[in-house]
Amino acid sequence: MIPFSPPKIYPELIDEIVNVLKSGWITTGPRTKQFEKDITNYCENKATLCLNSATAGLEIMLRWYGVKKGDEVIVPVYTYCASANVVVHCGATPILVDVENDFNISLDAIKKAITPKTKVIIPVDFSGFPCNYDEINELVNLPEIKKLFVPNTEEQKKLNRILVLSDAAHSFGATYKGKKTGTLTDASVFSFHAVKNLTTAEGGAIALNLPDVFDNKEIYNTLCIKSLHGQNKDALAKTQKGNWRYDIVEAGFKYNMSDLHAALGLIELKYYEKETLPARKHIFDYYTKEFSNHAWAEIPAYETENKTSSYHVYALRIKNISESQRDLIIQKIFDKDVSVNVHFQPLPILSFYKKLGYDIKNYPVAFNNYSREISLPVFYGITAEQLKTVTNVVISSVEEVLKNA
Ligand SMILES: *Cc1c(COP(=O)(O)O)cnc(C)c1O
Repeated sequence: MIPFSPPKIYPELIDEIVNVLKSGWITTGPRTKQFEKDITNYCENKATLCLNSATAGLEIMLRWYGVKKGDEVIVPVYTYCASANVVVHCGATPILVDVENDFNISLDAIKKAITPKTKVIIPVDFSGFPCNYDEINELVNLPEIKKLFVPNTEEQKKLNRILVLSDAAHSFGATYKGKKTGTLTDASVFSFHAVKNLTTAEGGAIALNLPDVFDNKEIYNTLCIKSLHGQNKDALAKTQKGNWRYDIVEAGFKYNMSDLHAALGLIELKYYEKETLPARKHIFDYYTKEFSNHAWAEIPAYETENKTSSYHVYALRIKNISESQRDLIIQKIFDKDVSVNVHFQPLPILSFYKKLGYDIKNYPVAFNNYSREISLPVFYGITAEQLKTVTNVVISSVEEVLKNA
């Protein structure tokens, strides 16, 4: 069976985990702080906080911005549930909007969804391909849009507009007009979950890049405390001589990253630009070259004049097929021992969101994208032979289904 996306375990990762275990310090400490600095250097954003997941990062940013019951947060329907679940956690309402043919949030749909209750927009860089951030940032800064904004908290008064919080779970290392994700919006959240491009097994980070009315370092400190029970000193600071006493300033969360996880991230980041991204690009280019010869194949966008993807998900679409034909193709592919996936089931087809009243009929582009989509294996170390097998298996499976249509 050719797997979908196994992690790459460098020997150096194993050595480094042993080093951490031997160091006597395994939770949040020097390695987490170093990983944060390295991410900031890599992305060139203003400050970075590492956490135990992207979900934690999204939620803590919504909490920081004071999002609560009665507020609305605009989220694309075409995403993993995490992007909307966090809005529900805060008691606010996710306003799900449709996407474009490239799978990313539609600017027109955002415009139609903005109301005086809108506090945040969470664009998702699907498959690692950045959204149209100039247009989104311009929109939230338009005088007529700012006039609608009703600030309720200190932070909301200071920004005085809708916060743009990008779900960059897929797009670490992607670029938009020459700038890396992490710098493209007020804040971006990365995921280092096991299937993501850069992994710490479980983990995530908030890349802060708020405008200069905010002190991003100070917000980093605030978020640090928020992510550790509202405790004003972390475990490492408490080990300093006589420094045992701490205070709790709010009922915070428990979202910190451990040094064991950060150790993995430090090594992964070291090879990310030089090895990981080129290896993934090579796989994308291979699939594109092979499938371009087939009239039924719709090739995903991953490099354009203004954008380069992080090559996270190769989202192949088959032209003019139904959802059940797609499912049949997937079954045939699995029967030939190749693992594929679907990214994503739009939220309204999942029972929780359906029960809340969201109806897939209102999201025709998302449904069309989803019903024809098959994500192909992309992982470091996939061999030339495996790539050939995947391609042949996909082609034969599609053609068998099309022939019998
Ligand atoms: C993986 C993923 C997340 C959640 O990441 P975690 O680190 O597992 O919390 C959020 N959004 C999208 C689009 C994802 O694919």
